[in-house]
Amino acid sequence: MQSNVVAGREGPRPITTLRGWLDHLAAQDRLAVARPGLSLAFEIAAVAKRLDGRKATFFPQAGGHAMPVISGLVSDRGWIAEAMGVAPGEVLTRFQEAALNPVPWLEVRNAPAQQMVHRDVDMTRQLPIPVHNEHDSGAYITAGLLIARNPRSGIQNVSIHRLQVSGPNRLGALLLPRHTHMFFEMAEAAGQALDVAIAVGVDPLTLLASQAIAPIDFDELTIAGALHGAPLPVVKCVTNEVRVPAEAEIVLEGRLLPHVREPEGPFGEFPQYYGERAKRHVIEIDALTHRKDAMFHTIVGGGLEHLLLGGIPREATLLAHLRRSFPNVCDVHLARGGVCRYHLYVQIDKRQEGEAKNIMMGAFAGHYDVKQVIVVDDDVDIHDPAEVEWAVATRFQADRDLLVVGESQGSKLDPSARNGVGAKMGLDATKPLDAPEMKFKRIRVPGEESVDIGRILENDHSWRQCLKA
Ligand code: MN
Repeated sequence: MQSNVVAGREGPRPITTLRGWLDHLAAQDRLAVARPGLSLAFEIAAVAKRLDGRKATFFPQAGGHAMPVISGLVSDRGWIAEAMGVAPGEVLTRFQEAALNPVPWLEVRNAPAQQMVHRDVDMTRQLPIPVHNEHDSGAYITAGLLIARNPRSGIQNVSIHRLQVSGPNRLGALLLPRHTHMFFEMAEAAGQALDVAIAVGVDPLTLLASQAIAPIDFDELTIAGALHGAPLPVVKCVTNEVRVPAEAEIVLEGRLLPHVREPEGPFGEFPQYYGERAKRHVIEIDALTHRKDAMFHTIVGGGLEHLLLGGIPREATLLAHLRRSFPNVCDVHLARGGVCRYHLYVQIDKRQEGEAKNIMMGAFAGHYDVKQVIVVDDDVDIHDPAEVEWAVATRFQADRDLLVVGESQGSKLDPSARNGVGAKMGLDATKPLDAPEMKFKRIRVPGEESVDIGRILENDHSWRQCLKA
């Protein structure tokens, strides 16, 4: 098999290392290097956010630390396509293909992630951990892949949690009711701590794989292997049995403590509001390992990197979920205005009257975060909000095309919901199938798209010269 063949397809090779990705971004003039010594308190986040979606950022000697900070690594959908080695339109299919064909990891010894080992941990001294939003309770680790093992099956889970630095070797963690939380409940019921590891600074595809909406006991690192087209090298932690990406920049090893809850938050979250302060789970850190020349990756809370990392794997899952019942669903998009979680645009090749409403119900059932669904025809670009609004303006009538489902489960981070309970709204903005052809015929100027503007335009003369001639 040729090395550039991935999953039976030829094309550019996927990016498999963080350093390779930074080289790629730099070569495309998408990596900004700041002057040394910017402040960890807001300054790094301010610069990263100003360049959000246009350039990733590299901060040497951040806050006077020897270790640099990096941010904004995957803050554009097109970049994610490049990391995968596919066209932008193939990102969701490629991700879903990887989730269906996971590649088991490969355990190695002598990992770069363990070149340096500290058993006496003081994160505030050893790591450059920034403060992001105005009312955040303090410094947060935001790009850490939290890896834990199911106490019964031993199968690992990977997820990203906001981690508040509560002390030199203590983190406050928000665990939503998903897989890590289930593993922890098993351990806590037995009066035991749950061993965990937090890997900071991984390649873009491993980062994306960590956000897959996979079933329990489905190791997200095997999706990373599939996206890479090769098994992901992992290494056993120094102080516990958790396996972490061997190429990671930094690894924190520790335990989620049973029957301990401490204040965590507020923290600026993806809906562009603060997640409230409350008593939450606590991780005690036992060891810190890192590369000799490690970099600290930070994701600015609520920035594009935060939004897209959650959004794209969800889109892939929702697309696959909808297609099981509705094979004529062409594409889905979680819109930026809906914080890449709440508003779903669905593009269909309409076959039956009424099916848009069935599709809405399928989408609401696909993920509780989905709050609004707009279904459009296949002549509408769902990645352009103006196109979707145009479809609503000209193909939707609220008295017959609107679906509202009250008192349903939604996002707890939506401040307009009552502790996560709220309404779903669906808009059918598709054309009627029996409409006369010209009624919904979209206007177009023949040749507009194909005309070679560079060859046609006159660059040498002003309009006054042309007028005289
Ligand atoms: Mn999982």
